[in-house]
Amino acid sequence: MVARCHCGKVTIELPHAPSEVTECNCSLCRKTGFRGIYYSPDEVRVSGAVDPYVRADLDEACLTNWHCPTCGCATHWTGIGVHAAGRMGVNARLLDPAVVDGLPVKKVDGASW
Ligand SMILES: [Zn+2]
Repeated sequence: MVARCHCGKVTIELPHAPSEVTECNCSLCRKTGFRGIYYSPDEVRVSGAVDPYVRADLDEACLTNWHCPTCGCATHWTGIGVHAAGRMGVNARLLDPAVVDGLPVKKVDGASW
């Protein structure tokens, strides 16, 4: 299963299709439209150049948010420091809609964190 940004320069190979999609209401996810699916970083392969964005408005940012420098699509996030192990988020919007349509949607109240 491969997720692709709009221009196709960034591809993300996933070990399996998602079984649910997470929608977060934090200010960043609201503005980028990110919909999260989660994997272990060691089972995902990101190809192509990506640029980082780390929120400066938080007391302590725990994620690096990556995007394609060419088309601007939010592609994935990875954890910083102790948050790096075990989990990363991939933007489900980079997948074919047929893969995610109809999946359960989990609402996360990131705006309150
Ligand atoms: Zn792109």
